[in-house]
Amino acid sequence: MVPSDVQAVLEEFAARIDALAPASGPPLTVAVSLSPAAAEALAEALRSYHDPRDHGRCGSCDTGLVDETFTCTSCGQPAGLFGQLVRERLARHRAD
Ligand SMILES: [Zn+2]
Repeated sequence: MVPSDVQAVLEEFAARIDALAPASGPPLTVAVSLSPAAAEALAEALRSYHDPRDHGRCGSCDTGLVDETFTCTSCGQPAGLFGQLVRERLARHRAD
């Protein structure tokens, strides 16, 4: 692993977290020295991290993120199996 690999992993992680907390404040700049083993471990830890605010992507529009109410923040559709049940029930309700 070379420094540009570590930087790419950090930037991918930051982008993933920033999508979940877009108004968290101005970016911080840090400089650290890592051994190759520590860099590998850090990269693996960041790749496997799952943020509790991350409820996945919307299956309807494929671009939006799903919030804690399982509603897409982009298109407003309820997501997943729950969303499918809501849409089916709403369609039945409208047909009545
Ligand atoms: Zn959506």
